[in-house]
Amino acid sequence: MNPLVQIARVTSRPAYRRLSTAKPIPSTGVCFELSEEQKALQDLARKFTREEIIPVAAQYDKSGEYPWPVVKKAWKLGLMNTHIPQHCGGVGNLGVFDECVVGEEFAYGCTGITTAIGGTNLGQAPVIIAGNKEQQKKYLGRLIEEPLVAAYGVTEPGCGSDVAGVKTRAEKKGDEWILNGQKMWITNGGVANWYFVLARTNPDPKCPAGKAFTGFIVERDWPGVNPGRKELNMGQRASDTRGITFEDVRIPKENVLIGEGAGFKIAMGAFDKTRPPVAAGATGLAQRALDEATNYSLQRKTFGVPIAHHQAVAFMLADMAIGVETARLAWHKAAWMVDHGQKNTVLASVAKAHASEVANKAAADAVQIFGGNGYNTEYPVEKLMRDAKIYMIYEGTSQIQRLIISRETLSKHAA
Ligand SMILES: Cc1cc2nc3c(=O)[nH]c(=O)nc-3n(C[C@H](O)[C@H](O)[C@H](O)COP(=O)(O)OP(=O)(O)OC[C@H]3O[C@@H](n4cnc5c(N)ncnc54)[C@H](O)[C@@H]3O)c2cc1C
Repeated sequence: MNPLVQIARVTSRPAYRRLSTAKPIPSTGVCFELSEEQKALQDLARKFTREEIIPVAAQYDKSGEYPWPVVKKAWKLGLMNTHIPQHCGGVGNLGVFDECVVGEEFAYGCTGITTAIGGTNLGQAPVIIAGNKEQQKKYLGRLIEEPLVAAYGVTEPGCGSDVAGVKTRAEKKGDEWILNGQKMWITNGGVANWYFVLARTNPDPKCPAGKAFTGFIVERDWPGVNPGRKELNMGQRASDTRGITFEDVRIPKENVLIGEGAGFKIAMGAFDKTRPPVAAGATGLAQRALDEATNYSLQRKTFGVPIAHHQAVAFMLADMAIGVETARLAWHKAAWMVDHGQKNTVLASVAKAHASEVANKAAADAVQIFGGNGYNTEYPVEKLMRDAKIYMIYEGTSQIQRLIISRETLSKHAA
């Protein structure tokens, strides 16, 4: 086929159009520019962050309240649930990349509020990848009709990284499943309308993880569903983290995702779509640390000059800029791949591990550049340092990301 005809066909694909500009595609096939729609989305999210998130970030960090007023405004503007399909009432034509664009902007303002908003996407991801039309219409549609949020319930007091250690169990009784067990560290645990819950359904310890677990949609209001107290965390305090106990919760068979035994793959598969947004959030935090530190270093003087003129400080800023740029490139690629139907598991881990570590280094260096002021709550950077840490823990620790990346690297060489 004529290469020009081929290119014309590629550019007419909706997924590509989302990421391309009005200009012709570059001959390399690589494009680093957001589309006009994405730029508009970014502007909207940036304005929202400036007007609705930054002014209240410190207040929610102190009170630890769930930021419902902010969530409701974001919902009204269509800055939430961007990925919900059209048949459920969503816009349907935005991808993970677009969600990341919004998430990076929000995170610049406050990653606690971003996690409060982003936690619902994690809860929805299993239903998006594995829900049937009826399940999607009922549970995703509900989130379009009203400003409600979902949550993802996999981790337990006894296991996080080792998901195959999940002890919550569900037993089939007629047309229902009976759920018993305990989850821990569930974002949106106390405020969600429904949860994705992973439970063991095959009690045989020899049964492989890929067959032993089932994924369920569990409603918050069902008898036996009991969220615990809100946990007092180091950072991201606007987000709501709780344990949840399930006592003889009756789940109709219609709320099983795909079928018995499919849960582990669904729970893990969701991360391909949710780790790029985590990386985008970490990038937003790192960008904020860089901007705050740069402004401060140009104002604060020591030895007769702004501290930015000391090379030791300027190089810290340079390292922060290197981190921000590479973290952004990493989430761009991971999100682009999954939107184009490519397997992105390794790239999602690369982006998540890299961006979370960049965020931690950038926040710690920003505190260093602020000196004594950096250690004080009157200045914005101590919050960044507290907020950054969780990026290296939730949705798989940095060690687990390296496990995924190293397995792939080693398997390529072994083949
Ligand atoms: C604020 C917050 C929000 C969260 N939100 C959610 C949520 O919404 N839903 C949900 O299901 N979970 C959630 N989590 C749980 C989170 O995903 C887990 O805490 C995380 O996966 C780590 O599990 P763990 O705490 O059990 O640590 P462990 O698995 O006990 O790990 C402890 C340490 O050992 C390391 N380690 C473990 N195994 C290995 C290995 N094989 N190789 C090398 N190192 C290893 C880990 O990296 C870590 O440093 C949240 C946690 C927090 C704190």
